[in-house]
Amino acid sequence: MNFNEFDFDARIDHNLQGLGYITPTPIQLQAIPPIMQGRDVVGVAQTGTGKTAAFALPILQKLLQRSGGKRGRVLILAPTRELTEQTHQAIDLLSCKTRIRSVSIYGGVNINPQIDALRRGVDIVAACPGRLLDHVQRRTVDLSTIEILVVDEADRMFDMGFLPDVRKIVGCLPANRQTLLFSATMPEAVRHLTKELLRAPVTVQVGDSAPVATVSHTFYPVASDGKRALLERILTETRTGPVIVFTRTKHRSKTLARQLEHSGYAAAALNGNLTQNKRQQALDGFHQGRYKILVATDIAARGIDVSKVSHVINYDIPDTVDAYTHRIGRTGRAREKGEAFTFISEADRGLELAIRKVLGTKLRYCQMAL
Ligand code: AMP
Repeated sequence: MNFNEFDFDARIDHNLQGLGYITPTPIQLQAIPPIMQGRDVVGVAQTGTGKTAAFALPILQKLLQRSGGKRGRVLILAPTRELTEQTHQAIDLLSCKTRIRSVSIYGGVNINPQIDALRRGVDIVAACPGRLLDHVQRRTVDLSTIEILVVDEADRMFDMGFLPDVRKIVGCLPANRQTLLFSATMPEAVRHLTKELLRAPVTVQVGDSAPVATVSHTFYPVASDGKRALLERILTETRTGPVIVFTRTKHRSKTLARQLEHSGYAAAALNGNLTQNKRQQALDGFHQGRYKILVATDIAARGIDVSKVSHVINYDIPDTVDAYTHRIGRTGRAREKGEAFTFISEADRGLELAIRKVLGTKLRYCQMAL
């Protein structure tokens, strides 16, 4: 099946062609029809599956079918600035040459341009909860006209402590609305939220919240003090495209990025200690190929769309199996192949077993002499 069969507005079809999207991904195939019918939808899908277009396309189609003046009609809540910005940009591309306007709202940047954009009128507001509440308090945003609410990456929203803010925001929305909730995993708190916010939802699921199938997984047993040598050896001996290296702490991300730079690699750090400007610079540099390696912490890297990441290297093992899934979602996106390397030291035994259980036979071990 291809996108033509959805009968989208010709402008949307044209934009899809421009982006080179020909066949819908499984989450798009499953989610688009019920969203078009006005149903509430829970989408269990990790980043990299095409979930943004899965909700954005039917939303745009609905907005084009019925014009609504200059009032906010769609609210998309996301846990991080990067994801908010990325969703806003994806919507811009998919709605090119239409009159649909979207704005991204997040903290760490000047609030005034956001106020101006809201005052001029937008159809779609993509927002992080904290800054949006700021606008609610200042009365610079009117949420009473919202027809569709999307809660994206609900599990990360919960991890980051945003659920109380989400509930406050939902309290400002009309009860009579369509609600879509996407999450890579379904912890109890998210199930609970789903029951609270959605009415008779259709659940669509791709994968089993296991890491994307297009990724191959290798574990490298290594002593803690041998990690850097192992990383440099891998980087020298492996043909890689853009690489994301994950560290456990902000400090380790900064130090490792510096060390790699000294060794001659085009590397940048991405962590929550950086200003929004610096973060954006690192991301832009990585997208544009100026940096080949991004050394990131989990939260900073959350939801980054880097479709061509060839390798994710877990310099430090993630804290949970779900976090492994999230990290690996950075590679193997939209059917490209990717590789995931994980450094395993003695202390990581418990998690090693847990991740191994999920990966099953897809996992390889590689012992390198350093
Ligand atoms: P997402 O899961 O929304 O972060 O999307 C992952 C990547 O897949 C993004 O780079 C999208 O541009 C791309 N993508 C989404 N839908 C399609 C499609 N139907 N065909 C090809 N690429 C797609």
